[in-house]
Amino acid sequence: MASGLAPAALCRPATINIALSTGHPMPLHLETPLIESVPLSLASGRSIFLKMEALQPPGSFKIRGVGAACEHHAQNGKRRFVSSSGGNAGMAVAYAGRLLSIPVSVFVPETTTERAKSLIGQQGAEVIVHGAAWDEANAEALASVDAETAFIHPFDDPLLWTGHATVIDEVVRSGLAFDAVVLSVGGGGLFAGVAEGLRRNGLQQVPIFAVETEGTASLAASIEAGALVELASVSGIATSLGARKVSDRAFELSRTRPVESVVVSDADAASACMRFLDDHRVLVEPACGAALSLAYAHADRLAGYERVLIIACGGATTTVERLQAWQASY
Ligand SMILES: *Cc1c(COP(=O)(O)O)cnc(C)c1O
Repeated sequence: MASGLAPAALCRPATINIALSTGHPMPLHLETPLIESVPLSLASGRSIFLKMEALQPPGSFKIRGVGAACEHHAQNGKRRFVSSSGGNAGMAVAYAGRLLSIPVSVFVPETTTERAKSLIGQQGAEVIVHGAAWDEANAEALASVDAETAFIHPFDDPLLWTGHATVIDEVVRSGLAFDAVVLSVGGGGLFAGVAEGLRRNGLQQVPIFAVETEGTASLAASIEAGALVELASVSGIATSLGARKVSDRAFELSRTRPVESVVVSDADAASACMRFLDDHRVLVEPACGAALSLAYAHADRLAGYERVLIIACGGATTTVERLQAWQASY
């Protein structure tokens, strides 16, 4: 377990010149609480268990896989990490780099919010703003990669999936029996990791509810087309789900293991975030609200399942003010 990790609560804007902690015991992620949610159970008419990934220091489950990948690359001699995510993946890389004392560069497009840039900068990473859209920032990031640099992909890398799989190892170790897992899908890294965790614990028959929002439903589109397809664009408030195409692995899993694809509205996702804030006193992004909304608003989809594990994946890029504005607009 990860006792003695650098306390993230000590993070301040880098301009306030305090020394942030470096050096750490492995692994980089925390073992998160697993709680039976009375409010979500009452709302959905079945037992709902929450794996509270929102409590990971960089704000989401991403540190599990990103941390595992960064440790692997550090052990193999890499001296610099590069990311092109202005979201939770970039934050996780920045956090991992700080704890491993390895410099991090995060390339983001001009559309990236000040809040996201500041959160990444607070972890001591260099934030490079390049281009009008993500593709340009990503190309610049890739162009900066040399022999000593590891590029950390946000969702499409077996190293990430192996790290994300620890979320299931922890649940199994707790002794909890569950008959379905609910998670949200962007590029499908969490999905692939949870599938790996279920498989390595002999639970490959447990169905996964793969939740996306209407504007980000790239897995649902591929399942419907019967082939891996790329959306022309993504839209809506669940920006952390905004991959135009899921990984090959995610699509393959949708054809080879039990998977229920669910698409919810932005209004559902925003409303779930607000209810979750009241119910569990934890602020999460609409990307996470999408998964939570299965219990709050779409429990009919869970018919036949009695003990459901929801991965409360978290997300650090939103604020109460923004959630309130979204909710008011629906
Ligand atoms: C990245 C992210 C997701 C989606 O994960 P993928 O691995 O891209 O499917 C969901 N929720 C949050 C909060 C995220 O940061």
